[in-house]
Amino acid sequence: MKIAVLSQDSSLYSTKRLVEAGEARGHQMPVINYLRCYMNIASQKPSVIYQGKPLENFDAIIPRIGASRTFYGTAVVRQFEVMGVFSANESQAIARSRDKLRCLQILARAGVGLPVTGFAHATKDIDGLIDIVGGGPLVIKLLEGTQGIGVVLAETHQAAKSVIEAFRGLDANILVQEFIKEAGGADTRCFVVGDKVIASMKRQGAEGEFRSNLHRGGKAEKVKLTPEERSTAVRSAKAMGLRIAGVDMLSSNRGPVVMEVNSSPGLEGIEKATEIDVAGKIIEFLEKNAAPGKTRDRIQY
Ligand code: ADP
Repeated sequence: MKIAVLSQDSSLYSTKRLVEAGEARGHQMPVINYLRCYMNIASQKPSVIYQGKPLENFDAIIPRIGASRTFYGTAVVRQFEVMGVFSANESQAIARSRDKLRCLQILARAGVGLPVTGFAHATKDIDGLIDIVGGGPLVIKLLEGTQGIGVVLAETHQAAKSVIEAFRGLDANILVQEFIKEAGGADTRCFVVGDKVIASMKRQGAEGEFRSNLHRGGKAEKVKLTPEERSTAVRSAKAMGLRIAGVDMLSSNRGPVVMEVNSSPGLEGIEKATEIDVAGKIIEFLEKNAAPGKTRDRIQY
């Protein structure tokens, strides 16, 4: 097969591993920097042009679109879809997953367990917002944050109020969320490919840190999921319309609650923690499923 890896940097671990896994199975695996592609949006012969030549005869693409490049990246993915090329994740699903609030709204609609969450842009009724999630301690998140930056734990109602006021002064979009104390500073990343969880790891935050992000000094180890965690991960990916997803959840007293669904989950942390060939599983999934014209996103919102 001829499979394009859409990535800005061929030296990234995830990109390298996908290329390696594909080539090991006899596929052609060019890395295409999607920011350098341009497009001919014509109904007769739509095309994507890269390094002066049209990209033709691809069986599949694997989009690895950077969070700050969603607009142009999803446009390139969509163009491949118009051309009938199978995408590991579709443009609409990627766009949907990039908005934390939209993500939670879709999961809520699908009946997936979530931390109690309130949303505000610039509310004057801060006390009301805090009451929605049951008072302090609570977690306040900047909607645009990644890697744990902009995620704050406020122990008391008063502390929460000050933080919300500060964010409000910055004109930021924020989520206010029930603090899942019993998670003990750990979360679980479930890597979903197709309709299965193919690898999972538990990330534990550094001593005294409630955020478990590896970028914040968290440590990862493989973990065996409960059937409920497994089905929650698969249902979440499905609700988002993602074939490949990193579903992050916390263990709460009422079962697993999902924080986020990532459409370009990194391979390094999970492969190293679990010693599972995640890249190989993605390629195998494409071998089984990539057929021209199979692209169809049926989710209406
Ligand atoms: P980011 O997308 O920036 O990583 P997250 O929403 O995933 O932000 O939060 C970062 C970390 O903070 C999570 O991995 C988790 O360990 C912790 N965390 C986030 N929300 C909660 C919560 N409601 N209760 C307890 N811990 C949380």
